[in-house]
Amino acid sequence: MRFEILTIFPDFFRGPLEHGIVRRAREAGLVEVNIHDLRAFTKDRHRTVDDRPFGGGEGMVLKAEPIFLAVESIWPERAAGQKVLLLSAQGCMFDQSMANRLADERELLLICGRYEGVDERVAEHLADDEISIGNYVLSGGELAAAVVIDTVARLLPGVLGNESSAAFDSFQETGHGEGFLDCPHWTRPAEFRGWKAPDVLLNGNHEEIRRFRRQAAMEKTARLRPDLLK
Ligand code: SAH
Repeated sequence: MRFEILTIFPDFFRGPLEHGIVRRAREAGLVEVNIHDLRAFTKDRHRTVDDRPFGGGEGMVLKAEPIFLAVESIWPERAAGQKVLLLSAQGCMFDQSMANRLADERELLLICGRYEGVDERVAEHLADDEISIGNYVLSGGELAAAVVIDTVARLLPGVLGNESSAAFDSFQETGHGEGFLDCPHWTRPAEFRGWKAPDVLLNGNHEEIRRFRRQAAMEKTARLRPDLLK
């Protein structure tokens, strides 16, 4: 799957996209990420990407033109399976089921806002969807884009070492229960500071372990996220 990122801070992504699973997925060619500097799509000498908001008020707004030019240059003709997403505090809430849907697309182009936001014509006439990673306001769309890419990448076939491990992640309908949290996990030593890992996990009986995990996932969901039990 291919991700295109449009940002005024291309270097921002060095951390999030160059470690762990996302890094390995890129190296294996399962995920391609291209980062585009919005300033490269400006026409003036100062490479201006922002301007004052009409109607007055604080702050600056990202201009529409460089963003339109960038998207039209990255995808001269938009095809099916290519989606333009605007990261925005005002968008639809990103969650695991949206991540599963996005994982079925071929290419995603993520537009990262900054300052007071982005000229509304981008949301109205360029982006397919406006998406938010939560009810809080970030300083820019870059962290949100990294969250989306990380979450979607781990759902792609072959990205996780063990194919089934995404299936049992929290919130997945395919997991221990329908959209439950993941079950709790323990590792060696079997006893740490007097606290023991559950015996059932050590006895090698796969059917018992499966039942225990489903029960533990349900209990933890009921305790911490009763809203997920519907
Ligand atoms: N004035 C805007 C916030 C602008 S924050 C408002 O109150 O809605 C600057 C940029 O950060 C936004 O354009 C968006 O790209 C990004 N951003 C902020 N919060 C976000 C969130 N919860 N999810 C996704 N992107 C967000």
